[in-house]
Amino acid sequence: MPIYEFACKSCGYVFEKLQGVNDPLPVCPRCGGKTQKLISMVAFKVTTDEAIRRVEKRFNDYIRWGKYKDAAKFAQKAAQYIKHDKIKRMQEKIETKLTKAKKTAV
Ligand SMILES: [Zn+2]
Repeated sequence: MPIYEFACKSCGYVFEKLQGVNDPLPVCPRCGGKTQKLISMVAFKVTTDEAIRRVEKRFNDYIRWGKYKDAAKFAQKAAQYIKHDKIKRMQEKIETKLTKAKKTAV
């Protein structure tokens, strides 16, 4: 069951709750007000393999377009969310490419 983040419409209190997809919105645990579901990373949680596959695809696109700096930034961002060797290897790969690109430019 995924964890969702909710925010109270009355007092703004934000909290997390385990919920099924069809469960009604919970009321605010602080003031009893109505809440709304927030878009959180957890709600969109996919399997790690699927996430890595998506990251790799995007990463390779950047490289294909010659946008090494963007690829490096992207890999760095991905590494914050996904702790995995594959992401680390992507970072190493792009570092090497950036270093080479610098040398060629000089
Ligand atoms: Zn509230």
